[in-house]
Amino acid sequence: SKQAGRNCVTFFNTEMGAAALARDQTEVALKRAVQTKEFILHYQPRLDIRSGKIVGAEGLVRWNRPEHGLVMPDAFISICEETGLIDELGKMVLEIGCAQAIAWRHAGLDLDLSLNVSPRQFSDSGFLPLLKKLASQTDFPHGHIELEITETVLIGDHVSIAEKLKAITAMGYRIAIDDFGTGYSNLSYISRFPLTCLKIDRSFVDQLPTSGPIVQLILTLGQQIGARVVSEGVETQEQLDWLIEHNCEEAQGYLITRPLDVDGFEAFLQGNAPT
Ligand code: C2E
Ligand code: CA
Ligand code: CA
Ligand code: CA
Repeated sequence: SKQAGRNCVTFFNTEMGAAALARDQTEVALKRAVQTKEFILHYQPRLDIRSGKIVGAEGLVRWNRPEHGLVMPDAFISICEETGLIDELGKMVLEIGCAQAIAWRHAGLDLDLSLNVSPRQFSDSGFLPLLKKLASQTDFPHGHIELEITETVLIGDHVSIAEKLKAITAMGYRIAIDDFGTGYSNLSYISRFPLTCLKIDRSFVDQLPTSGPIVQLILTLGQQIGARVVSEGVETQEQLDWLIEHNCEEAQGYLITRPLDVDGFEAFLQGNAPT
């Protein structure tokens, strides 16, 4: 009826208003959170398939939001990108990650650490100077910090992107392509970028063995350009067996463990299952 329809519209508007308000509040809280450094990293181990050893970790950001608990990145990364807060947040992630990598080195742990870099952060003029500053720290583990960028970053002026990637590599960082195979990427340019790692997106790993031809293609591409291939989101022994059989270098996923806080990660390395 007409009455019900009107109520429906009112209800809908209220809902929209509530969502917008929640988003505004999140944005305000995020601004404060960036200043008061409410962010931490969790670490997900990277398994070297051949040796069966943990050779590194991926740092994944979490927001320790007062009165909310731990907030996952999908709830705030896009807001940070839209508002430009990602520059500050991204800086913090790199600082925390590099400090942790230096601490592990001091503890005698030989680990590679991957850190996520958003497209906006990559194109920011402050990005290279920040990387330079971080790499100049005492005991910085040159060659052991890998920056994960997405294919989106590779769109645009290939010459200037290649130059930027070369400059980053020259500072001692390695470059991984995250979520490989899901975005647009002009494959003819892949070989011109100094890439050390391709990370196969979880959506392909999920679909094994049906997606086998695509995964094999990426494994071959990785070999051709001298990049290791990491499979993300490995959840079953069947998936891992397939990857062993097809000589994938590394695996990451819930089968090995979910991302852990730093204490949990260190306990995991010592062979203790997290509680
Ligand atoms: P990503 O870089 O593709 O990270 C992998 C995501 O998959 C992580 O979610 C991880 O917890 C999850 N994952 C790992 N293994 C499995 C598995 O076996 N099964 C399933 N279903 N999921 C698995 P998380 O931590 O929620 O991060 C989500 C996304 O947020 C990341 O996707 C990345 O794009 C972004 N992100 C995380 N940390 C940062 C950061 O420091 N900076 C930026 N710019 N983005 C970040
Ligand atoms: Ca990643
Ligand atoms: Ca990924
Ligand atoms: Ca992803």
